[in-house]
Amino acid sequence: MTLTASGPQASQSSARQGVGVSCRGLVYIYRLEGYDVVALAGVDLDISPGESVALLGPSGSGKSTLLSVVAGLLTPSAGRLVVGDRDMTKASPAELAQMRATQVGVVLQGASRNLLPYLSAEQNVHFAQRGAGVQRGAAARRNGALPGPRDVLSLVGLTARGRMRVRPDQLSPGERQRLALAVALANRPGLLLADEPTSQLDSRARDEVIAALESVRRAGTTVIVVTHDPAVGMQMGRTVTIRDGRVGAEGRRGEDFAVVGRDGSIHLPHDVLDVFSPGTLVEVLLEPDGTARLVPVGQTPRTASGDLTAGNLTTGNIASGNPASGSFRGGIFTGGNLAGGAAPDLWG
Ligand code: ADP
Ligand code: MG
Repeated sequence: MTLTASGPQASQSSARQGVGVSCRGLVYIYRLEGYDVVALAGVDLDISPGESVALLGPSGSGKSTLLSVVAGLLTPSAGRLVVGDRDMTKASPAELAQMRATQVGVVLQGASRNLLPYLSAEQNVHFAQRGAGVQRGAAARRNGALPGPRDVLSLVGLTARGRMRVRPDQLSPGERQRLALAVALANRPGLLLADEPTSQLDSRARDEVIAALESVRRAGTTVIVVTHDPAVGMQMGRTVTIRDGRVGAEGRRGEDFAVVGRDGSIHLPHDVLDVFSPGTLVEVLLEPDGTARLVPVGQTPRTASGDLTAGNLTTGNIASGNPASGSFRGGIFTGGNLAGGAAPDLWG
């Protein structure tokens, strides 16, 4: 299933080309009366056109804020943000609105927030197309610049007879969430941002939404989804874990990596933190082979490869003896194998 336009160019135009995102030291501060909340504390993140990414992380870590800043709904307090070829920190409110109408589709948390309750499913999609550029609604569709509402609804699997003509409150929760996706996709955006689209859905509805996201992804659209759902994370291929307003970890095809921050900091994986509690003094020793190890003060490091003495954490060889896992590679520290098997005993 691809998103095709219902016009003369229908056969050749699938989705708009994917839009990439680049964040450098991105900061967002909510200014409240009497105090500030730093929701994003320097996010460094690159997402390529057509890539699909799941944003994970504990509640309050800044995921929704990051989505809103990328969507242009919130203006960054500091740092750099480029979406497509536009520098979002320099864009005027009108340019941001235009961008949301054409290039970026947003699904806010809670499907109903994205829908007009008194319009049918089809009319909701139609309404979302009203502001798409100079060419409006029907004219744009005739030119093949925009897909017809039914084509958009079929992309998210809302094709059952009669479902297009009913209002959102007559749809099931899963259908409503897919309609919210369809509304966000109405103008064939190159970037889809969705905040917890599968939360509060039963497993069948959840699978329907996951299938809809998959067809959007396959159509070439860049997809960024905030989720707690491991199934969504797995489907996306790349996971980015936000912790305390920064990128704390990344997962690629099932492997987990910690990410070195611009200030040189690194979020240790939980199992390592269990060993090195906050406040522990460690020596960070760079090895000739390009790996590094953390040695707590008072512990004598051993140099034999793969040897693990109490408290001597040799990245690269912990427990697994496999130098390809658990090492610093290209500036990325993988925590994947640090505690693998033997480690707890050794520190216990
Ligand atoms: P997440 O989506 O990961 O749960 P949020 O981006 O919603 O995190 O929130 C990040 C931080 O910003 C939290 O400390 C939260 O309390 C705060 N925050 C979020 N929205 C607002 C707001 N509108 N006003 C003030 N603080 C907010
Ligand atoms: Mg949130």
